[in-house]
Amino acid sequence: MQRSAAIETESLQRARDQVAQARHLVCLTGAGLSAESGIPTFRDAQKGLWSRFDPAELASEPAFRKAPGRVWSWYRERYESVRAASPNPGHKALALIQSRARDCRIVSQNVDDLLERGGASNVYRLHGDITRCKCSECARPWAHPASPWKHEAPPTCDCGGLMRPDVVWFGEFLDPAIWNRCLEAAANCDVALVVGTSGMVAPASDLPELAASQGAAIIEVNPERTGLSQWADLWLQGSAARVLPALVPSARPAGD
Ligand code: NAD
Ligand code: ZN
Repeated sequence: MQRSAAIETESLQRARDQVAQARHLVCLTGAGLSAESGIPTFRDAQKGLWSRFDPAELASEPAFRKAPGRVWSWYRERYESVRAASPNPGHKALALIQSRARDCRIVSQNVDDLLERGGASNVYRLHGDITRCKCSECARPWAHPASPWKHEAPPTCDCGGLMRPDVVWFGEFLDPAIWNRCLEAAANCDVALVVGTSGMVAPASDLPELAASQGAAIIEVNPERTGLSQWADLWLQGSAARVLPALVPSARPAGD
């Protein structure tokens, strides 16, 4: 039977109970979480100013080597839109869910800092942080007090290498320490909340399946069905800013 477009009250109630009762909760977030803060998802970006370019072809080391100025400008513009944005009710709700949970790990594919600015702590930043830069040659972080993004072209490191955003590009490895924490969190959780991700970027997209294979209940929050919906016990059709506030438990569980 087809689900109606509205979120079913019963599903919402079940999801709220599962979140409140979780012993080990994992929240996996994607670009959709920040969409209502005005930060385009990759899909949105394909409609906008940069629609002539495929993000997969800009967000890579070979692209940077070939045209560092162009890649820098693309990220500089994205950085400026992050800086101008504010956390939306979805970010704030996740922070509240985390603060009221027994144990809640947030795994974010987002490179913006809106979860932290919304009050979340200890976010596992799987794909890095666009507010920071590092050297493309020696990996040293940008050490000057003024933001590297003030420069219209990539500034240079003391070693002579060009600075680049501290994000994980296509074709690059994730930080193994962070990835191991994510794997452990997904393997040990009893409830996983999967928010605003298309599930098209591996290996982050493997986490819901891993959690499901260990018996966790998977709750998906997304206006659309995704490649991850097959693992979801509950699909809450709607936007993060609308649905997540309805999942915040009223208080910390008794006895904890
Ligand atoms: P994606 O662009 O592939 O998919 C976005 C998903 O969000 C889609 O499934 C869409 O239906 C859903 N969505 C759209 N609006 C939503 C809303 N208001 N509430 C909830 N869901 C909504 O994004 P992805 O899965 O995160 O993967 C793409 C990659 O792009 C990631 O590696 C990520 O690092 C990068 N990215 C990050 C940002 C950011 O940091 N804000 C923005 C764009 C892309
Ligand atoms: Zn260097």
